[in-house]
Amino acid sequence: MRAFRLRPLKELTDIIFPRHCVCCGQMLLGDERHLCTSCLMHLPYTCNAAVAGNDTEQHFQAYHDMVAAMSLLYFSHHEDTRRIVHRIKYGGDRRLAVAMGRLMGETLVHSRRFADIDVLIPVPLHRRREQQRGYNQSEMLCRGIALQTGRPVSTGNLVRTVNTASQTHMNIDERAANVHGVFTVRQPAKLAGLHILLVDDVITTGSTTSACCDALYEAGNVTVSVASLALAAT
Ligand SMILES: [Zn+2]
Repeated sequence: MRAFRLRPLKELTDIIFPRHCVCCGQMLLGDERHLCTSCLMHLPYTCNAAVAGNDTEQHFQAYHDMVAAMSLLYFSHHEDTRRIVHRIKYGGDRRLAVAMGRLMGETLVHSRRFADIDVLIPVPLHRRREQQRGYNQSEMLCRGIALQTGRPVSTGNLVRTVNTASQTHMNIDERAANVHGVFTVRQPAKLAGLHILLVDDVITTGSTTSACCDALYEAGNVTVSVASLALAAT
């Protein structure tokens, strides 16, 4: 009865305030959110969560204790992923970030390799950068993953102590130097014995995520897995 009464109201608000697909710009219909059904179906999914030694994990071969890594989408040369990431990072669309996190969470739930994750930790922004943006996009991804997995999100323990320069135009060595030692764990005891899922928006060379892994492993008795919204070719 409730759904019956709400639907006409929703259709009316869709006419007055039309919503549009983030990727193709078409008007969204019915229960569609952020992306139309066609764009959602045709995103460049990596489908790599269940695959040991996958292309995301190739970036983290130095970490012998790493349990698993995955990415939801390929980034390179794909306009739709670029639009989604741009909107999440620079367009202030935190709801889209949570929605994409839910998709990541669905994928994680279906892969047994991530079944014993204890806690979700976003790659942190520097405090000043987060204030400018209004939120940390990786934290919003975590919020979406948490809705699907039921795992808690930890913020404020792994922190970025240096406000580093943008890495967009840096090569792999410059990126590694740029983030070396900029992350630290404030309360290592709170993470002891936990399997952490470290969550990032885009993995390009893996240098930022690796610097976070360094800080987490230095903190002590932890195991780490990695999940990113997108994976870019280097
Ligand atoms: Zn679309």
